[in-house]
Amino acid sequence: MDTDYDAIVIGGGSAGLSFARHAAQLGRKVALIERAELGGTCVNRGCVPKKLLWTVADALQRGSGLTRAGLLGPNPQVDMERLCAARGKKIESIRHSYRDKLHEAGVALIEDTAELTAPGEVTISGQRLHAPRIVLATGGHPVKPKMEGADLTCDSDEVLNWTALPGAIAIIGGGYIGCEMAAIHAALGVRVTLVTDTDRVLTEFSEAAARVGQRNLEAQGIRVITGCTPDAVRRSKDGLELVLDSETTLRVDRVVAATGRAPNLEALGALKDRVALTDKGVLKIDDSFETSLPGLHAVGDCADRLPLTPVASSDGETLAMQLFGTHRAPVDLSHVATTAFVLPPVGEVGQPSSDAIFEEATLSPLSAALRADAPQDYWGLGGSEAAVTSVSLVAEGAHEAIAWAAQLLLHRPDRETMRRAIGVHPSTSEELMG
Ligand code: FAD
Repeated sequence: MDTDYDAIVIGGGSAGLSFARHAAQLGRKVALIERAELGGTCVNRGCVPKKLLWTVADALQRGSGLTRAGLLGPNPQVDMERLCAARGKKIESIRHSYRDKLHEAGVALIEDTAELTAPGEVTISGQRLHAPRIVLATGGHPVKPKMEGADLTCDSDEVLNWTALPGAIAIIGGGYIGCEMAAIHAALGVRVTLVTDTDRVLTEFSEAAARVGQRNLEAQGIRVITGCTPDAVRRSKDGLELVLDSETTLRVDRVVAATGRAPNLEALGALKDRVALTDKGVLKIDDSFETSLPGLHAVGDCADRLPLTPVASSDGETLAMQLFGTHRAPVDLSHVATTAFVLPPVGEVGQPSSDAIFEEATLSPLSAALRADAPQDYWGLGGSEAAVTSVSLVAEGAHEAIAWAAQLLLHRPDRETMRRAIGVHPSTSEELMG
C-alpha cells in the first residue's frame, strides 16, 4: 500500500466521498478511509432508508384516508419483509455505485479505522500514512437522553433497521427526525405517541409551518405531548413504560430516542486537545474548512455547518476545488432548502423567523377533500413586498417545490414580480403565486 498522498480523507459518507472524487478528478493522489459501510449515514442509516419507508407510508396514509371515508376498499397493509428486502437491495446498489465511482476516479479506498497520530499523519492498523492535507469527514451519531433507563431506548439507526413493526411506540424528541419517525410509523399502522420538551414540534422550522405540521401529525392519530421531559424508561411485564411524571406512564413496545446527534471525533486521537470545537461540540472551521490545526480540514456533520447531505456533498466538492482547483466560496446556508418528511412534508428555505413572514395562508387542499384524515396545507412568504427572502410550504410535493423556491430566492424577487408567474390549478402553489 502507498503511504504518501496529496490528501487523505477519513470517512466515506456524503462529505468524504464528494471530496475524494473531486480531488482525484483534479489529478491528486487521494486515499479515503472508511471503517464501516460506504455511503455513511445518508445511505445506510438516514435519508435513503427513511425516504424509502416514507414513500410506502405516504401511499398508505393517502389510501387509508380514502378508505376511512368509504371511497376505497379495505386498507392496504405494508409487507415489511418485502419492503426490507427491496430497501436492502437499493442500499446495496448505491454502495456499489460509490465503490465504482471511487475506483473510476482513482481514489485509494482503505477499509479500516483511522486515527490522526501527528499533523499530516494518519495511522491505520499500525501503518502510518502521510499527506499535507487531511480531511475529517467522520459524520455523527445519535445521542441518547440522560435519564433512567436510557439504554432501553432505541435510536434512529436501530429504527431504520426494524424488520418487524411494534404495536405501539413512544418517541422522545420533536425535531425533524422524531416527527418523521412518528408520521412514517403511524401511517404504517403503529400507535405513536410523540413527547417533546419544547412547546411545539419541528422547532427547526418557522412557527406557523411547524404548527400546521403538528396538526397534521395529530390528524394522523399521533398523540403529541409538548412541554414534557420524561423521567425514566422501565421494563414492564409485556414491554416498556415511559414515565412522564409521577402520575403519567405510557405503556409501549418500544421507546425511540430522537434526542440529537454528536460528531464522531475519535479519529482526532491524541491531537484532540489541539483542535478547537464550537459551543455545539462540532469542529470549528474557517471559510477554507480548515480547523484550528493547520492542514487539518473538516466537512460534513462533524464540522460547524448544516447537518444535511446536500451541504456535506457541496462542501466536500468546494474544499477539493479550494485546495486543488480554482477558488470557490462555500454555499450560503441561508439558501439551503430543508424538509421534514412528515405527511404532507414541511419545506422551508431562508430560515424565516415568525415576525419576518408578511403573507401566509392555511388552507384545506382539494386533494384532501375526499379523505377522512384531511391534512391541512400552509404557505408563507418572509422578508417584505420589496424583497422576498423566505418561503415556507406544507403541502404534497413540498420537498420538491421548496428546492425551486431556493433557486428563486437567489434572485431576491419582489412580491409583484412573483405574481407575474402563474401556478397550476387546482394546487396549493397557485394561491401563493396569485
Ligand atoms: P456520515 O455520512 O455520517 O459519514 C461519516 C463516515 O465516517 C461514516 O461512514 C463513519 O463510519 C466514518 N468514520 C467515522 N470515524 C471514522 C474513523 N475513525 N475511521 C474511518 N471511518 C470513520 N439529510 C438530508 O439532507 N435529508 C434527509 O432527508 C436526511 N434525513 C436524515 C434522517 C436521519 C434519521 C438521519 C440520522 C440523518 C438524516 N440526514 C438527512 C442527515 C444526513 O444523513 C447527514 O447530514 C449526512 O449523511 C452527513 O454526511 P457526512 O459525510 O458528514 O457523515
